Amino acid sequence: METTSLLDVRRIYAEPAAVALPRGQQVLSRWPDAEVVEVASHWQIPELHGDEANVSRWVRIKTESLVLGVKKSLAARPNGRSSDFIAPSTANGCAMACAYCYVPRRKGYSNPITVFANIEQITRYLSRHVARQGVKTTPDQVDPSSWVYDIGESSDCSLDARVSDNVRDLVDLFAGLPTAKASFATKHVNRDLLDWDPQGRTRIRFSLMPEATSKLVDIRTSSVAERIAAIDDFVEAGYEVHVNLSPVIVQEGWLEDWRTLLRQLDAGTGPRAKEQLAAEVIFLTHNEALHEVNLGWHPKAEELLWRPEIQETKRSQTGGTNVRYRTGWKGTWVRRLLEVVEQETPWLHVRYAF
Ligand code: SF4
Repeated sequence: METTSLLDVRRIYAEPAAVALPRGQQVLSRWPDAEVVEVASHWQIPELHGDEANVSRWVRIKTESLVLGVKKSLAARPNGRSSDFIAPSTANGCAMACAYCYVPRRKGYSNPITVFANIEQITRYLSRHVARQGVKTTPDQVDPSSWVYDIGESSDCSLDARVSDNVRDLVDLFAGLPTAKASFATKHVNRDLLDWDPQGRTRIRFSLMPEATSKLVDIRTSSVAERIAAIDDFVEAGYEVHVNLSPVIVQEGWLEDWRTLLRQLDAGTGPRAKEQLAAEVIFLTHNEALHEVNLGWHPKAEELLWRPEIQETKRSQTGGTNVRYRTGWKGTWVRRLLEVVEQETPWLHVRYAF
């Protein structure tokens, strides 16, 4: 999808404290014709976040609105799966609209991109946090020798990089930190990042799933073929590249669809990429409230995502009801998929699967 159709910013909701910062000014100058609406808090903008029923307006809001705010509490949270730590976010929200996305669960469903303008404070915080960890002496599945910080838990960094220089500043920061790496998952191919100099200290995880399923549930993203085609180029440009095989959605014929995808990955990447590629495998979790909302705009996706006969519920920490595949069956399905990975891409190290 053309970026111009992803982002055509007409209105920027801005906290005054964010406008006062150089990064806030940079974002405003990127869209000089946009109307600027002053807001007291990036969390409370009813016309953007409140109206869960107004599904038809979402995509317009995602395309035409941005929010500029200041990230108040800075903390790196321990993780242990995808990364060692989740870095304080420099953006949240997304202009894409994957039907299973957990990002809008906290901030309402249109959830346009919010950019945090206090990037200098965030990079200073991160430098100190990295320094405090010292050297990683015990290798783990996240990385044998670097502390890995996920910088894109609440947004898609490749797309955020079209809005401001926040992501570039983070990639530059980690390029100079020999004990740590930045990492983010993405479904958007932004070739501008190829001109940066990450020095192997940023790990991009391209999310992959079978093409036909992706066309149905990954709304407004780059195609799976485009993501695979980008892998060699990003390795060449100095990124570490991994893949997220996620979410794995169980349906009729799913295992053969994944076999086809893994063959595409094998055929579409060169030896240098293969040598360093690793994978995370994550089976779908879904959410009851999101299911209800999705029924209003994308019922066909829900036929794949909402399968009570093979799922079980789990109350999430934030109080909502999440669903995931039933325990016994899921274990079998994980094993089957890993067998297919072993058959089709034996060079692909799976960091974890759940
Ligand atoms: S690209 Fe990522 S953050 Fe954006 S809607 Fe899809 S899953 Fe959510």
